[in-house]
Amino acid sequence: MSSSFRSEGIVAQQNENTYWFKNDFKGEQVSIGRRVTEVLKMRSIFAAFALCFSFMLLSPTPNGAAENEYASPKKPDSHFTIVSNAKKPTSDEIQRYLEQTWQTFHDVFDVEPAAVNVIISVTSGAGAPSPPSGQERRAGTLQRQMPWSIKEGEALSSQRFSDLSHEITHIYFIDYMEDKGRMHQDHAWLHEAVSCYSEQDSSRKIRKQWARDHINDRTPFEQFFTMKNPLKESPLVELTVKLTEKLNRREITATEMTQQIASMAAVQSAEQSQERIRHLTYYAQSLSVFEFLLKTEGKEFIRTMSQQLKNGKSMVEIIRGLKSYPQGIPQFEGAWVAWVQVG
Ligand SMILES: [Zn+2]
Repeated sequence: MSSSFRSEGIVAQQNENTYWFKNDFKGEQVSIGRRVTEVLKMRSIFAAFALCFSFMLLSPTPNGAAENEYASPKKPDSHFTIVSNAKKPTSDEIQRYLEQTWQTFHDVFDVEPAAVNVIISVTSGAGAPSPPSGQERRAGTLQRQMPWSIKEGEALSSQRFSDLSHEITHIYFIDYMEDKGRMHQDHAWLHEAVSCYSEQDSSRKIRKQWARDHINDRTPFEQFFTMKNPLKESPLVELTVKLTEKLNRREITATEMTQQIASMAAVQSAEQSQERIRHLTYYAQSLSVFEFLLKTEGKEFIRTMSQQLKNGKSMVEIIRGLKSYPQGIPQFEGAWVAWVQVG
């Protein structure tokens, strides 16, 4: 293994903790040595690990304004407003990139997701976030906002932008499921699956491989379909919830928020490695079950299933209603395992 490959692995591992500034921490903060092989294996998927906090970034929308906007977008050609202090990529380039994210959701669910305001702040090479810009507080008054940080010159093909697609898709699916305020913990697996599905091909491939490698660590389906997202118990996520409330009250800027989260993330160590593996397996399983259903039952089924779940039907009932699985969940789980193993 070349040392550059190794250090990339460490940086990626660090990123899973520090997700805002993945390239700003070098290997010296982490003890290299043990678990190098495992780290190398996981390097990409750790980078692919988005923290899924966008459920908190929906500002309150009084008088059903969100529903109205959702039903009839005024500007169908512009699904994003970008506020960014990055020179490269330009706001136009970011907008064009994000249109694919909008399109992916539109294709699967046949709806027109609402416009999202994306507030991009650039982190400097030394890891210090750029000073808050005056635009952020004004931007904070918009309904659907997504604060995000990138490096100057960050490639649109990078993990950072793949993660952004993931988080924005959470906003779309929360709207679709009318899940506002419930932190998308109802049918958590499906929220993560849909978001992972919007990630770039390279990320989805890694998750697919992860699902195959960890097939024996899967959560049994009856539990899987009703469980909460295990990641949401993380202290980092709790902090993010608190800060988002402050952001929505306009007590802090998006940049201050990312800065505080990064500080906390930086002191967390790789000790919770086992826990992270469990989280990654949960995400990989979610995406894989979704892709299996999409492939074998089709988009129409996905839409109907989502509506049925929204209306209180359980996955146990839904699966039992499918022609292919008269014996219900155990039979479905068996078919999925076989499909994953074939690849
Ligand atoms: Zn997520």
